[in-house]
Amino acid sequence: MTDTDHTPVLHPASPPLDWTYATSREASDLVSVQDRYGLFIDGDFHRPASKRYLTSINPATEEPLAEVAEAGPRDVERAVTSARKAFPMWSRLPAAERAKYLFRIARMVQERSRELAVLETLDGGKPIKESRDVDLPLVAAHFFYHAGWADKLEYAFPGLKPEPLGVAGQVIPWNFPLLMLAWKVAPALATGNTVVLKPAETTPLTALHFAQITAEAGLPPGVFNVVTGAGATGAALVSSGVDKIAFTGSTEVGKEIRRRLAGTGKRLSLELGGKGAHIVFADAPLDQAIEGTINGIFFNQGHVCCAGSRLLVQESIAEVFLDKLRSRLEILRVGDPLDKNTDVGAINSASQLERIEALVETGRQEGAEIFQPSCALPERGYWFRPTVFTGVSQSHRIAQEEIFGPVLSVLTFRTPDEAVEKANNTPYGLAAGVWTTKGSRILWMADRLRSGVVWANTYNKFDPASPFGGYKESGFGREGGRHGLLAYLKAEGM
Ligand code: NDP
Repeated sequence: MTDTDHTPVLHPASPPLDWTYATSREASDLVSVQDRYGLFIDGDFHRPASKRYLTSINPATEEPLAEVAEAGPRDVERAVTSARKAFPMWSRLPAAERAKYLFRIARMVQERSRELAVLETLDGGKPIKESRDVDLPLVAAHFFYHAGWADKLEYAFPGLKPEPLGVAGQVIPWNFPLLMLAWKVAPALATGNTVVLKPAETTPLTALHFAQITAEAGLPPGVFNVVTGAGATGAALVSSGVDKIAFTGSTEVGKEIRRRLAGTGKRLSLELGGKGAHIVFADAPLDQAIEGTINGIFFNQGHVCCAGSRLLVQESIAEVFLDKLRSRLEILRVGDPLDKNTDVGAINSASQLERIEALVETGRQEGAEIFQPSCALPERGYWFRPTVFTGVSQSHRIAQEEIFGPVLSVLTFRTPDEAVEKANNTPYGLAAGVWTTKGSRILWMADRLRSGVVWANTYNKFDPASPFGGYKESGFGREGGRHGLLAYLKAEGM
């Protein structure tokens, strides 16, 4: 053996090497969770007039975390009144002063990011490596980015005299609780609006800790309010006296909100579901495309509106690509979301698990072939194995409906035209990914895909400067970037 030969020497009789990592848990005592939370109205926490509370649980253990107030219509009206009262002062504040508050909030989120990441993981079930390395950095980035816009709106929309709308009602889902808050609250405040936010029933805790941060940052009372509760609280906010509703959630509820607001003159933006196509051409760098596909569908347990939940793979490489995909699935680590080595965490709630199981059962019954790795699942909590369906046809429900779980449906194609046709063949149009080494083909595809976002040789990359939103049943309006500011502004001549 030479000095440069690094081949490991294994004794023929030695047992196979064990490559598994030891568990490495993030400390859950980084966060102090209160037994009970009130509603954040007018700069402070209050008991709900409804006198009702809901329990938020940890989906990885099914253990209760905290009781959270359930706002009734009177509570919602009180929050809207508080935001209305704060609006003249906030909207007339010199824009550079408003920016300072957003900047300070961004810094405080950074300072407390470990605590918020642990709380997000406890309340929602997502792996700590995602809440720590993706959600929290993006939350801070959204506040920094919008702090920068606050005093430059006249330059963003020259000659249009941009003005805030008034009170914005914002209803957000459970898949990225704090990040969806940041996507909505940062642009609303930067443009001079005041806010009443309704987090999802299963993940209200980070919004309440964020509310505490706004109070510590000295944000004037009433500028930001949080009304926790279930769907009825969201519906009460939609029917209240706000000037705008920004909603992220299911297409079904989005449609209902749109019907309710028709003719009221209230502004509306909707970010709804998706059935993203991940398109892999034969000339793609296959190992990278495998990683992209895994990230596209198993990131956040597939609870992602822009998830690449349909894999369209070119027929000539389908067999080899699927073999690689199955072996990659075998080494995904599913389990304790607080373990830093976990790739796939807990399903957010019992009802979401039920919905995933029902749709997967439909896939089996419709004749698709299922593959799931052999990983062990924890005994308590809500879990679902990473799943790949092959032999899927376009009419299958698992190829058309949003499953919102770790389930990938695989279809094949022969030509670029066929790929475009299949990718566009759903009611949605939120996101797509194209894998090829040919730049011209990426542009050709991006022109033809009816999709708000098209990623090239990557997937699930987000940036506050980049507008995000959909076509068709994925909704309308954009969040992020200069376009996202328009969702909170009226401007002369628009
Ligand atoms: P919903 O659309 O019901 O929830 C989104 C938000 O809207 C939550 O805060 C919810 O409150 C609130 N809400 C519910 N009903 C109303 C109403 N009538 N008026 C106003 N607000 C309301 O989504 P689900 O949680 O039921 O998830 C169902 C499916 O929706 C998922 O399987 C997935 O396919 C899709 N979805 C898509 C998301 C996306 O990012 N595009 C996000 C979440 C879900 P509460 O949670 O308290 O019920």
